[in-house]
Amino acid sequence: MPPVKNNHHNRRQLIKGALALGAAPLLTALPQSLSLHAAAPKLGPSFPMIIRFELGDFEITNILDTIAMRDGPYPIIGENASEAEVQALMKENLLPETRWQPGFTPTLINTGQELILFDTGNGDAGSVKRPNGGLLLSQLEAAGYKAADIDIVIITHGHGDHISGLLEGGKPAFPNARYIFGEREYDFWTTAEMNTDRLKGGAAKFKKMTEPLKEKITFISPGMQVLTGIEPVEAFGHTPGHLAFHIESNGQKLLLWADCAHHHVASLARPDWHIKFDVDKEEGVKTRKKIFDMAATEKLPVIGFHMPFPSVGFVEKRHDQGYRWIKHSYQLK
Ligand SMILES: [Zn+2]
Repeated sequence: MPPVKNNHHNRRQLIKGALALGAAPLLTALPQSLSLHAAAPKLGPSFPMIIRFELGDFEITNILDTIAMRDGPYPIIGENASEAEVQALMKENLLPETRWQPGFTPTLINTGQELILFDTGNGDAGSVKRPNGGLLLSQLEAAGYKAADIDIVIITHGHGDHISGLLEGGKPAFPNARYIFGEREYDFWTTAEMNTDRLKGGAAKFKKMTEPLKEKITFISPGMQVLTGIEPVEAFGHTPGHLAFHIESNGQKLLLWADCAHHHVASLARPDWHIKFDVDKEEGVKTRKKIFDMAATEKLPVIGFHMPFPSVGFVEKRHDQGYRWIKHSYQLK
């Protein structure tokens, strides 16, 4: 392609020359096409919040619910390591050492029969307030759906960033949906004795968000076929009943691992590093290793709720230690 000739520069020089000569009348006489115009306004950073791809006969849409930056990853990740070690790993990966932007990514699967939503984000009652969080409903419309279109909501676990979007203004946000919860998870948040303030707060929130939906909830356990092509996988530790899901359509497979990882570098490279939000930290470690190993060995595409948007990728087992997240580019086109 031949280089484009830059007339702009020549115009500027012509005008500058005219001004230097004190020739204001000449300026007003310039033809319209040569007149100066206002600089384009800055519009601020932008980033994609919706991605849609096909998996067999399923159509999968990931929607970014929350865009907040936060302090970290230490000590949310690596409490049992040291701040210096976590920061060194960030530096090595060209990431800020003390700031972090996790993904918060609910997933919508259109099976051809049903429209299924996995997790509901921060809603209007989550810890990250609008306009930085709780964006699922507005982005759902941008993605071409209405809240009333959702047939089934599946909840991977009971933390606030996954359940706070169940209600909007105290009413069901997805008025035509039925709900699927892991039985063990539901029992934990509604009946177990909570021994920390964090868990007590979590349980109160869980009860408040799920009470109005009670009649429309069905319960599942790992290994059950929930719907054709959707099967829960035991991923306990982050919470007592935390579930991942095998998704399969027409011979194509994907693993939706919910909160098995919170940071795309730190959680994968150092699965031994504790996650502050894991209810059972050592079980969380075991589950991470099991799930990462499965994803790497079977070369499964993965959706990870807290992976950076589009929150789709693959896992590589590293020769030295740990694993590596390979962000999706065009493998699933
Ligand atoms: Zn989460």
